[in-house]
Amino acid sequence: MPPDSRSLNVPTIYCGTKTTATTAREFRMNEAVRHIVCPHCDSVNRLPAARDASAAKCGKCSKPLFSGAPAPATTAGFAKQIERNDIPVVADFWAEWCGPCHAMAPSFARAAAEMEPKMRFLKVDTEAEPQLAARYQIRSIPTLIVFRGGKIVGQRAGAMNAGALRDWLAQYV
Ligand code: ZN
Repeated sequence: MPPDSRSLNVPTIYCGTKTTATTAREFRMNEAVRHIVCPHCDSVNRLPAARDASAAKCGKCSKPLFSGAPAPATTAGFAKQIERNDIPVVADFWAEWCGPCHAMAPSFARAAAEMEPKMRFLKVDTEAEPQLAARYQIRSIPTLIVFRGGKIVGQRAGAMNAGALRDWLAQYV
């Protein structure tokens, strides 16, 4: 992702004697911004990259940006979720009638609790959101797709246990 434009225009004058290159670098890092899309209202939030995002709240709807649990995704908000988040997004395509989906759900939830806010965890109910299932050509469920910058960077079909799921997701954060 391109750095925020403000972070590129670092002032060259600092208070006191803090004019070393190291200080300038730290200044830039501290000013870097990370975009996190609210899982409740799909608003794009700008957070300081250096700050722990786990306790941050949405500037629009005031709900927590991370709750340590997967969030239901909608067709309307999905593009924003995968394109505007500066963190990788994993989507679990599932259905109510699917036994293996239910079997994997606790592992997916546990991974969310462990890996947020480094990754966004979404659930796509393929019955409620058939357009999303069609767009990503989901032929069997559960299917997990990892997105980064709107692009698919990983995809797995079939249920995984908690350990295998954690190992597979870890390569994307
Ligand atoms: Zn919100």
